[in-house]
Amino acid sequence: MTTRVNTVVVGGGQAGLSVSHYLAQHSIEHVVLEQADQPADAWRNHRWDSFTLNTPRWQSRVPGVRYGEDDPDGFMPKQEVVAHLDNLARQLPVRTGARVASIKRHRESGCYVLKIDGGETISACNVVVATGLYQTPKIPWLAQEFPTEIKQLHSDTYRNPQQLLPGAVLVVGSAQSGAQIAEELSESGRKIFLATGRAGRTPRRYRGKDANWWFARMGQYDRTVGTLPSPRAKFSGKPHISGTKGGHTINLHQFARDGVTLLGRLVGVDNGIVKLGSDLHDNLAAADHAEAEFTKAVDAYVAATAMSSPVETLPVLRGGFDQKILAELDLTASGIANVIWATGYSFDFSLVKLPVTDGDGFPIQTRGVSAYPGLFFVGLPWLHTAKSGLIYGLAEDARYIADRIAAPRTAIETASIVPPLGRSLKPRRSRATTRWADRVMTLIWSSALSLMLDGFAGYAAGIYPTAPQTSPHQADSAIAPTDATQGLR
Ligand SMILES: Cc1cc2nc3c(=O)[nH]c(=O)nc-3n(C[C@H](O)[C@H](O)[C@H](O)COP(=O)(O)OP(=O)(O)OC[C@H]3O[C@@H](n4cnc5c(N)ncnc54)[C@H](O)[C@@H]3O)c2cc1C
Repeated sequence: MTTRVNTVVVGGGQAGLSVSHYLAQHSIEHVVLEQADQPADAWRNHRWDSFTLNTPRWQSRVPGVRYGEDDPDGFMPKQEVVAHLDNLARQLPVRTGARVASIKRHRESGCYVLKIDGGETISACNVVVATGLYQTPKIPWLAQEFPTEIKQLHSDTYRNPQQLLPGAVLVVGSAQSGAQIAEELSESGRKIFLATGRAGRTPRRYRGKDANWWFARMGQYDRTVGTLPSPRAKFSGKPHISGTKGGHTINLHQFARDGVTLLGRLVGVDNGIVKLGSDLHDNLAAADHAEAEFTKAVDAYVAATAMSSPVETLPVLRGGFDQKILAELDLTASGIANVIWATGYSFDFSLVKLPVTDGDGFPIQTRGVSAYPGLFFVGLPWLHTAKSGLIYGLAEDARYIADRIAAPRTAIETASIVPPLGRSLKPRRSRATTRWADRVMTLIWSSALSLMLDGFAGYAAGIYPTAPQTSPHQADSAIAPTDATQGLR
């Protein structure tokens, strides 16, 4: 038997719940289908124990959640995020343990038939796909070449230092997850080897304000996807920065001071010997350059707007450059008993049985509205603006989609807001990019040096000259490009 409902939201993460919140405000009959046993599964079960949001509280508020009197400039631990989302989910029509296996369009009615694992079908004239972009942990094929006695984990399943075997740890990937995990393990007394990529560094604070405050002030979060230098720039990795311990800067040179051995990117493994690229110093220089570009942009903004802001000179650390560039690392001689792959995630929207994705597998849509009436996407990096992949951008994107469902578009509107079926969106140049601040930030984003927004482990236009065809996203630049194309899972 097929159940009928006006709207189905697929995915009970923060994006799906946000859309549900606005649909409920419009009194639209709907259900949220979540495959896990509880909502907010990504924060609950796919982050390490000490995980703390990198975005300050003022930027991390999910629509519909009551936050009370909290510290707006502080950072939420994941347990707090989960508790808020649980409260929200309790007020909404969420059905857990319901994995949507396929979404097909009914030829005559134009509505959709969703098949759920177990065989049940649901028919709906509106479907919002909110399955996120960080779906499947990506581990390169060369993981198979490591000796079997070495414990291997992805950052997705890393929880805490106690989970590891005694001995040193090789962390692969130096974007946000890798850098934060390396820091935690080093502070717990572990000897750490960190294979670096080109992720940039953003100072946590500068001239008296949080880096994200400056990005917001300079209008960077409102930049639309069309201002990106290339469609793939939306998959750029994030710079190292942290919300733990009240929020702090992560600096690889400080890691070197603290005894972490920094490495170039991983190229291969043979008989217990890890082969390394010679790019360590380039990677360090790239991170330093990203910070310099950020401070330059802020200084220029302060000067241009004549705002009052204390002058600050950030400490210049150079310790990483004193470390030798290793071509090889003997796992046994180095005492490495564990490898953590902080190499990002891949995604797959093939559950939608329609040609709705571009050559990168990313949904073709405008502000989440696809070319198929009633089919929407939400919760993706640069869906509409730079903040779309962050909690910060949810209210705007989720409300827009709920409003579209409440007031269905006309055929004329359809033609004006979405590209013809099957044609990929090309980023358009906007006049905004010609503004000086945007130019600086475009450089920062597109050069993969200081990648503030989503797409975790460092894939960015410019790092890999020829982008791999299948799921290139979040492949870490700490892995040799050829390896990154061959994920195990
Ligand atoms: C390590 C890391 C750190 C981050 N830090 C921040 C931060 O500090 N601040 C910030 O704003 N953002 C951060 N983000 C980005 C972003 O907020 C998260 O990725 C967020 O979880 C995305 O929310 P979502 O609802 O779109 O996707 P998800 O939270 O991934 O939710 C998708 C849901 O869909 C479900 N699902 C998937 N497929 C199906 C199916 N076929 N049927 C039914 N259900 C399905 C999943 O189980 C999941 O619950 C971070 C991301 C990562 C990976």
